[in-house]
Amino acid sequence: MRGNPQNPMTSAAHDHLRRALEQAGWRYTRQRQEVYDYLCSVACHPTAEGVYRAVRSHIPKISLATVYKALEALASAGLVTKLPDVSGAARFDGRTEAHYHFRCARTGQVQDLPVPYSPNLLDRLDPALIDTLRGQGFHVTGHSLELFGYFERG
Ligand SMILES: [Zn+2]
Repeated sequence: MRGNPQNPMTSAAHDHLRRALEQAGWRYTRQRQEVYDYLCSVACHPTAEGVYRAVRSHIPKISLATVYKALEALASAGLVTKLPDVSGAARFDGRTEAHYHFRCARTGQVQDLPVPYSPNLLDRLDPALIDTLRGQGFHVTGHSLELFGYFERG
């Protein structure tokens, strides 16, 4: 099915991405489509370099700078999520709805936790937490949860 511009599902997906990018003030390009498609197809939350290596198999002439720009465009349009990493390269996630992660301390690889997102998690930690923080002048707008550890080597 790849490479068939008449495929209706592919066209609909391309239209969705084109509209979302253009609404955010970005141009739609085939490179951005490839980067987006790749991020939505993998569970590993790759770095920009990882995206670059994968997308190069479809677009051999794409540059790392173009991949960085595509990731910036997609993230700022709210189409993908950028996961900052204090000690290494940022990773990118094709899922934009709230969810949790676990991260391998050896490889840096990030995956989704197989549990539903809980908007009431803070209440369960302490029902007064949000009000307590508000009393200190801090307004809670959300939370994240990331487990860290490592995979045992076989
Ligand atoms: Zn994720």
